[in-house]
Amino acid sequence: MIVAANFKMHKTRNETKEYLDELKKIKFNGVKVAVFPPASALMEDKIVGVQNAYPAIDGAYTGEIGLEQLNEFNIKRVLIGHSERRHILNESQEFIAKKFDFYKNQGFEIFYCIGEPLEVRKKGIKEVVEYLKTQIKDIDLEYENLIVAYEPVWAIGTGESASIEKIKETHEEIRKLTSKPILYGGSVKLNNIKEIIELPNVEGVLVGGASLDVETFKEMIKIAKDMK
Ligand code: PEP
Repeated sequence: MIVAANFKMHKTRNETKEYLDELKKIKFNGVKVAVFPPASALMEDKIVGVQNAYPAIDGAYTGEIGLEQLNEFNIKRVLIGHSERRHILNESQEFIAKKFDFYKNQGFEIFYCIGEPLEVRKKGIKEVVEYLKTQIKDIDLEYENLIVAYEPVWAIGTGESASIEKIKETHEEIRKLTSKPILYGGSVKLNNIKEIIELPNVEGVLVGGASLDVETFKEMIKIAKDMK
């Protein structure tokens, strides 16, 4: 079971440090825990991954960080393809695939996000699958350090998670495309995590808003531990 926290643009370096110290007071007992703080809060810690990184060692890429900066903190985990980067920062599939290849070649653990917008979901599962396939173009779905996160755009940060039926049918479809772990993300909370991770083809969760409170995130890990 995998339980991951995406802080997005929340928390400072000090707050992240306090959070990690508190988090580590509990035993994970085989649950893989990952925390993605903002780049300014990166630190050397096995749990920590980066929310975004440029596909280069270093160079003239203003505002970005690359391998050199990640190596300073021994970061070996990266989130790629998050819907906020696809839709707000307008990252193309071509660029996302470039990032994927670069960090795959560096042996990083890649949390690779896919998910459809509401207008596609409304058309039905066939169209959802077609859309998701455009988001895996040129991605090696059997990369050994890959974790896929299915995050429907309409469920991220809305407080409205996808229904159990929709998660089930979509993960079943994604399972046909990869043998790697598949996480669900999109308004996962303490009151729905159990029924989500009980589903077949759901190997864990990627949590945004609800992960910001360390006590809530600890409780989530405990629930995942009990499920193992
Ligand atoms: C996310 O940012 O990946 C996410 C799933 O956010 P939230 O849990 O807030 O919907």
